[in-house]
Amino acid sequence: MADHIDMANDLAEAETARHIAAARQPIPVGVAGQCEQCGDEFPRLVRDHGGLRCGFCRDGRRKPR
Ligand SMILES: [Zn+2]
Repeated sequence: MADHIDMANDLAEAETARHIAAARQPIPVGVAGQCEQCGDEFPRLVRDHGGLRCGFCRDGRRKPR
């Protein structure tokens, strides 16, 4: 008969398995091309508010010169 500790262990095990599965989701790769805001070429653009922008524009930072 399962006691409370066994039940807690089963829950913890299921929770850990869920977290591992969530952590294994692939990171979106992004695409190379021209930023829709600053117009510069970047090896990796991110989809942001429906457009493709560089990380600088997305974050509201200026590109280092
Ligand atoms: Zn940009």
